[in-house]
Amino acid sequence: MQLIFEKSRPGRRAAQFDALDVPEASLPPALCRAEPAELPEVSELDVVRHFTQLSQQNFGVDSNFYPLGSCTMKYNPKLAEAVAAYPGFSELHPHLSTCPAFRGLCQGALELVYETEQALAEIAGMRKVSLQPIAGAHGELTGALLMAAYHRDKGNAKDTMLVPDSAHGTNPASAAIAGFKVVQVASAADGTIRLDAVKEALNESVAGLMLTCPNTHGLFEPRVREIADLLHESDALLYYDGANLNAIMGHARPGDLGFDVMHFNLHKTFGTPHGMGGPGSGPVGVGERLEAFLPGPRVVCEGGRYDLETPAKSIGKVAAFFGNFLIAVRACAYIRHLGGPGLKEASENAVLNANYVFARLKGTYQPAFESGFMHECVFSAAPQAKAGVRALDIAKALLDYGLHAPTVYFPLTVRESLMIEPTETESKDTLDAFCDAMIEIAGKAESDPDSLHAAPRTMPVGRLDEVRAARQLDCSC
Ligand SMILES: *Cc1c(COP(=O)(O)O)cnc(C)c1O
Repeated sequence: MQLIFEKSRPGRRAAQFDALDVPEASLPPALCRAEPAELPEVSELDVVRHFTQLSQQNFGVDSNFYPLGSCTMKYNPKLAEAVAAYPGFSELHPHLSTCPAFRGLCQGALELVYETEQALAEIAGMRKVSLQPIAGAHGELTGALLMAAYHRDKGNAKDTMLVPDSAHGTNPASAAIAGFKVVQVASAADGTIRLDAVKEALNESVAGLMLTCPNTHGLFEPRVREIADLLHESDALLYYDGANLNAIMGHARPGDLGFDVMHFNLHKTFGTPHGMGGPGSGPVGVGERLEAFLPGPRVVCEGGRYDLETPAKSIGKVAAFFGNFLIAVRACAYIRHLGGPGLKEASENAVLNANYVFARLKGTYQPAFESGFMHECVFSAAPQAKAGVRALDIAKALLDYGLHAPTVYFPLTVRESLMIEPTETESKDTLDAFCDAMIEIAGKAESDPDSLHAAPRTMPVGRLDEVRAARQLDCSC
C-alpha cells in the first residue's frame, strides 16, 4: 500500500475556500513559514480510500475469528457503543461532579457509576466496587495497595505476596510496584496450584496470594476455599485476578469463594472491545475487610440524590474522576441488556465453545492438561516443534486462513503453548472452520514443514523479524 505522501499530486485539494470577500490581513513575517508545509496534496476521495484501506490492513474481531487466550477478544455488541455515544454521557464535563453547586447537573452520570458499581459487586459477591482503575494491571496495583493499607492499619508486618507460576505477568509486576516481595508458587502437573506449595510458602510475612480462577491454564482451582482458609488463619488476604470472569459469571462469585479483593476487566468481559491499547477499565471489588480503604471520592446515594464521599481510610485517588467513565457506560449497557440470565448463558457458551474446540483438536495437538478446561483450552506444539514446526509457525499459518492466531508461548509453564479462547459469540461453523484449519496445518507440519516457515503469504506484511522490531524501535523506516 502506498503512503499518503506518495499519492500526493501538486495542487490537488479536498476542500476549497470561497474567494476572499474581506480585506486580506497578513501575519507578521516572523510567524510565517519560509517554505510551504510538506503536506500531502490529495482529493477527498483519495483521503477516504486511503484511510479505509489502511483500516482494512488490521485484523479485528469485527472482521474475523480472534481466539487469543487469556485476552478475551470477544465480540462486543454495538448497542453498548451506541449508548456510550449519547451526548448526555459523551459530552459531559467531568468537573460538574467535583463542584457541589453543579452536582445536580450530572445526577444521571453519578447514578450510572453507582449502579454499575453495585451490579459488579453483585456479579462478584463483593461488598463494594470502585470504577477508578483504568486497566486490569492498574486494578491489580490498586488491589495490592489496598492489601498493603489493610496490613499497615492493623500493624501487620507483612511484606510478601505469593503468586502462582501460571499467573499473568502483570500479577508479580503489580505486587512489586506496590512494594511487596514476590514469591512464586508452583503448579502441580494437572495445571492447578499445589496446596502443599502454598503451605510451604506461607509464613507470618505473607500479606496475600494473587490467584486467577479459572487460572491461565484455563482450569478452575478446586482448592480455592482451602487456600482462602489457610491465608485467613494468619490474616493474609486472597486476591482474585478477575480478567477471566467470562468463564464463571452467574455461576460462581469470587466473594463466595473466599476472595477478599479483586479486579474486573471491563474491556474483556463487559462490552468494551479489547486490544490495540485502547482505553480500558479495571474496577476493584472488595469484601468487608478492605472497604474502608477504597479509592475516593465515591458516589453515594442519600434520599434519591447522588453525592460524593471519601472512605475513612481511603488510599486516595488512583485515577482522575471516576476512571474511564464511558467504559463504565458500555459495561452498564451490556449488563442491563443481558441481565442475570444472559450473563450466565454467556459464560456457559464461552465454556462450551472452548470445550468443543478442545474435543476436536485433542487428537491432533498435545493437550497441555488432561481435562477440566473452562473458557479456554491449552495445547502444546512440542511434538510438532520436534519436526521443526513451532507454535509461532502454526500461529502465522492460521493468518493465511483469515483466522487470528491463538495466544502462543503463554502460559510460560507449557512448552510451545497454544492457548485458545474462542469466546461465547462464535458459531459452530466458525469453530469448525478454525479446527479444520488447525488440523490441516498439523498435516502440513508432517508432510511439508517448510511451507509453514514462510507463512503468512497473504497478509499485508509477511514474517516479521520480531527481535529486531523489539530492539530497534524505529517506526519511520
Ligand atoms: C489481560 C489480563 C490482565 C491485565 O489486564 P490489562 O487490562 O491488560 O492490564 C491480568 N490478568 C489476566 C489473567 C489477564 O488475562
